[in-house]
Amino acid sequence: MADRQPLVRLRGIRKRFGSHEVLRGVDLDVQPGEVMCLIGASGSGKSTLLRCVNHLETPDSGRVVVDGDLVGYTERDGKLYELPERQIRAQRARIGMVFQHFHLFPHLTALENVREAPMRVHRHSKATATATALDLLDRVGLAAKADAYPRHLSGGQQQRVAIARGLAMRPQLMLFDEPTSALDPELVGEVLDVMRDLAAQGMTMIVVTHEMGFAREVASQVAFMSDGQIVERGTPADVLGRPAHERTRSFLSKVL
Ligand code: ADP
Ligand code: MG
Repeated sequence: MADRQPLVRLRGIRKRFGSHEVLRGVDLDVQPGEVMCLIGASGSGKSTLLRCVNHLETPDSGRVVVDGDLVGYTERDGKLYELPERQIRAQRARIGMVFQHFHLFPHLTALENVREAPMRVHRHSKATATATALDLLDRVGLAAKADAYPRHLSGGQQQRVAIARGLAMRPQLMLFDEPTSALDPELVGEVLDVMRDLAAQGMTMIVVTHEMGFAREVASQVAFMSDGQIVERGTPADVLGRPAHERTRSFLSKVL
């Protein structure tokens, strides 16, 4: 097969907080349409890495390229200069992100949460943004809850609204940071179902998760992070079924 251009290319990503080097040179490629599941112990740097992809976190060195564009920086004479905030926001608009704790606007209904960014950032008319938002709410199974406020929705429903909101800007890439970790066990499945559908429709996704069943079934690749580095990556069958590294085996023995 001819070399494809990865949608996401991370090279040599380093990040330190004070004296603690949290990311120690991470390289990662995600092809269009792939689902990359990022696993690893708490504190290994998964969230920081995900946040570097859309420049919510500024890497100390290394490059993040999404769809051929350097994220957060411009390069002149081999040196990187951080882009102005307005341009970073425009890049971020093409990357949807879903967090563990939903982060919905509490004073807005489900519908208003989903159509807010397209109206504010893309200046879509209320009618257009509403039609798109209703469509997306339908896709996550929540058409009937369009006028409900977050406090009247279950955690699983709130997270599905958050996914619809993430999709509203028509992103090329979706980032999920432990999207089911804050949910009661009986609500996990409905969120994973929505993510599974999204994957089946060809969305490129990077998913930090402890749901090994989901990773096994949906991931194109699994990457295991430990101590700020990717220790091992490959197909779910390899990484989860035949881990090559002792640290991966030790981690899996605790979560499986
Ligand atoms: P994970 O998502 O794998 O649990 P994180 O990326 O959240 O790991 O964190 C990795 C390490 O970086 C942890 O030790 C965490 O305490 C530290 N860390 C993360 N964000 C910050 C921050 N803003 N300031 C200081 N330390 C941080
Ligand atoms: Mg995390």
